[in-house]
Formats: sequence, structure tokens, C-alpha cells
Amino acid sequence: MHEVSIVLGMIDELARIARENEAKSITQVTLKIGKLSGIVTDSLKFAFDAVKLEHPFISTAEILINEIPLVYHCNICNNDFEAEDIYFPSCISCKSNDLAIISGEEQHIESVEVDV
Ligand SMILES: [Zn+2]
Repeated sequence: MHEVSIVLGMIDELARIARENEAKSITQVTLKIGKLSGIVTDSLKFAFDAVKLEHPFISTAEILINEIPLVYHCNICNNDFEAEDIYFPSCISCKSNDLAIISGEEQHIESVEVDV
């Protein structure tokens, strides 16, 4: 499962954050996950809850996920719009395919609460 390797990478990052803050443990982790990241948020939560038990410093941590919608900017008419379909979208007002992604590719830790 793709999500397990993401969680393992995240744990290294969390260990670094805990060390830098001289924290005993991490109590809450908030993630930003864009719709275009391809991550299944339920699988990510499941993987986190399974893996955290092997790491005392995050064993009681709660995971929260902010799903970021996919937003495109049209380079032709300057319209910004949210897209449901991630494949071959076109501008909803002028039908152009000359688009730039504004958000939806996020895949990172937004904030962490620690117990010191
Ligand atoms: Zn347009």
C-alpha cells in the first residue's frame, strides 16, 4: 500500500520535529493532502494508526487530514475554478485547456501538537 510508505516518511519527519521541540510525545498531527496527490485519506489514517503503535512518541497521536480541493487557473480568461475531474480538465467558462494548478498537489504536515 502506497500510503504506508508515506506514513513511514512522515514518522521520520515527526521524529525530527519532536527532537527539535524537545517534546516527549506528539499528540496531534494535521496534514494537508491535495486531491491531486493521489493519496486515499482513509488508507492514510488507517496506516498511521497501525504504524504509530510501534513508535512510543506518537502512539497516542491523533491524525487530522485537511483535504485541499483541486483549483485551476485559466491562462486565457484568468478564471479560477475548482475541478472535480482531475484528468484533462478544461476551463469552465472559456473551455481552454491552457490551465495552471493553483492547489491540489499538497502533501505535507501542516501542524503538530506536542507534549513537552
Ligand atoms: Zn478560461
